[in-house]
Amino acid sequence: MSRAKLCFVAIITAGLLLPACSAQKKAPPVVDDAALGSAAAAPDEWLTVGRDYAETHFSPLKQIDATNVGKLGLAWSYDTQSLRGLEATPLVSNGVLYATTPWSNVFALDARTGKELWRWDSKADRIRGGRACCDVVNRGVALYKGKVYVGVIDGRLVALDSATGNPVWDVQTTPVDEPYTITGAPRVVDGKVIIGNGGSELGVRGFVSAYDAETGALAWRFYIVPGDPAKGPDGAASDEALTKALPTWTGEWWNNGGGGGTPWDALAYDPEARLLYVGTGNGSAWDRRLRSPQGGDNLYLSSIVALDVSTGKLKWHYQTTPGDTWDYTAVQHMILADVQMGGKPRKVIMQAPKNGFFYVLDRLTGELLSAEPYAKVTWAKGVDLKTGRPIETRQARMYDKYKVTLFPGPGGAHNWHPMSFNPATGLVYIPAVEGSFPYAQERDFKRQNGFWNMGIDLNARGSAKGLPPLPEKEYEPGTGPEVGSASLLAWDPVAGKPRWRIKHQGVSGGGTLTTAGNLLFQGLSDGRLVAYTADTGDKVWEVQLGNGVIAAPSTWSMDGKQYVSVLVGWGGATGLYVGNPTRQFKAPGRLFTFVLDGTAKLEPVRGIEHDPLTPVAYKATAAQLEHGSALFARRCSMCHGTAAASGGTIADLRYAQPATYDNMDQIVRQGAYQQLGMPKFDFLTEEDLAALKAYVLSQREALLAAAK
Ligand code: CA
Repeated sequence: MSRAKLCFVAIITAGLLLPACSAQKKAPPVVDDAALGSAAAAPDEWLTVGRDYAETHFSPLKQIDATNVGKLGLAWSYDTQSLRGLEATPLVSNGVLYATTPWSNVFALDARTGKELWRWDSKADRIRGGRACCDVVNRGVALYKGKVYVGVIDGRLVALDSATGNPVWDVQTTPVDEPYTITGAPRVVDGKVIIGNGGSELGVRGFVSAYDAETGALAWRFYIVPGDPAKGPDGAASDEALTKALPTWTGEWWNNGGGGGTPWDALAYDPEARLLYVGTGNGSAWDRRLRSPQGGDNLYLSSIVALDVSTGKLKWHYQTTPGDTWDYTAVQHMILADVQMGGKPRKVIMQAPKNGFFYVLDRLTGELLSAEPYAKVTWAKGVDLKTGRPIETRQARMYDKYKVTLFPGPGGAHNWHPMSFNPATGLVYIPAVEGSFPYAQERDFKRQNGFWNMGIDLNARGSAKGLPPLPEKEYEPGTGPEVGSASLLAWDPVAGKPRWRIKHQGVSGGGTLTTAGNLLFQGLSDGRLVAYTADTGDKVWEVQLGNGVIAAPSTWSMDGKQYVSVLVGWGGATGLYVGNPTRQFKAPGRLFTFVLDGTAKLEPVRGIEHDPLTPVAYKATAAQLEHGSALFARRCSMCHGTAAASGGTIADLRYAQPATYDNMDQIVRQGAYQQLGMPKFDFLTEEDLAALKAYVLSQREALLAAAK
């Protein structure tokens, strides 16, 4: 609603002229359903993660455009007082900027100056760090009627007073004794706060919940997968839908990891249709044979589910990956748009999930309109538009007998990094990745509560042992373009093909922002924030911020000036496992805000320098090193990196102080660092520990040798 209309309504209802209407002074805007539902009418603000219910990450602001973007300079920066991944999109309302940091902490800044107004410490139990698959990140807050909502890594949902940061209510949304985590941003729709959860790598049963925004009372809950059929319905909104899903499951998944499906990121909302869209996660364990041994589609894994926002009841679903067995989540960002398809106006929902196909569906009915590969795909040869099902390649599920290399891998052809949609160009801008993964079933897999339970041999790439590789000639061709690197992909959703693509070094670029100024912003793993023209992809500006960027920028306006803000903090799954081209270690987080002709001094982020390496003597047999390597891959690599080479977010064990190796028993088996987020592996034997130590020291030695 426009300001004029608001005044008109106020005059009629109050019978007197409000000061806000007569004088220049504006009444403070309230973030309510009307404001959230008409984000286009409030161009100055950025009120929800995707800026609008449609999750477009598009701003109608155009003061900064392709002709003057070269004059962008720093307005201010803010030290987030953190050392791990920053994934939040900053929100701005009424002159205040809100964002989150690792461990689900929240801060509020004066948007004009960057001066801190308040910080809230979630005081999350650091033991939760070991349960977070992909760093203790958080993707942001929701705003509504004077409150700020945040999901906490330990499964809580907390409402804070937006003026003070003091908690108003605090509810535990997940069973505390199970390895659930929350990293996604809540959304507020229809007076309810919507929040999902993660944990499918460790083994849980995914669900999404709606809480009354005012009181924190549970309004409804939708389980993604059925529970133990003997126990009957849960009394949840999903009961009827799960009765239909039940025949698509076999075996005893409820005893065996809970089935998974955790909806840990994407939500979108159509206020006209009153439909809430939820992207759902992968199966747990990954290999379907280990959770549903006689097969089945395993509804509603890897799906988009459309729920009635009032009741949480299922209206329709579309499963992108039936019988998921590759960690192909469909929790990736979904965008709503009104486009012309086949000569007809269609209200669509669009998604580029991990599995490599870009989907366009009718968002009212769930009808599949288009599914084209946006990356190299070798698990499927395409999607049958009649049945809506992928046409799997012969090799896709052969990884119980062979090591099978497939595109994409579990990192996905696109992960959580927000894409964006520009209505002027009609393009969707995807932070895309090309990568493969050697899938191989873990031999003698046994579940362990509270630990990683994918049933996948994480040592398959490096080990000569394990399953034999599938011979090259057995591979059936897949589909999709071969790019050979990460890229920024401008995708035409109507034509179902790329318009243009910019290749990046290394791993995925950060989330994207597009504007009516014909601009497209993306931060990169090499520390740059870059602006391109949205129509043609020409680079028009860049700045070096010193450390890998993974978050999406946002843009907002105040006192007639347009600003661009971005969080810079290397981390997330890639920051634990793979690493970034800057090769920094533990770099402090920052929020940078840019404006035309900004003159603040830009000091790029700098990581901590490692101490020079010294040799540490060790003795080990070849068998010990082999055992240590396998153990490291199975138990340590997901946080400390492949081959003990940390991705830069947490400790690179090769650089440890020599005395640390003497304390490995206390740290690894006795849990001395639990309050830093390091799990306690008390089931490891002394032999296991000795093998791990020998392996890490051998990697230190290799690093020393390489440096010579
Ligand atoms: Ca997963």
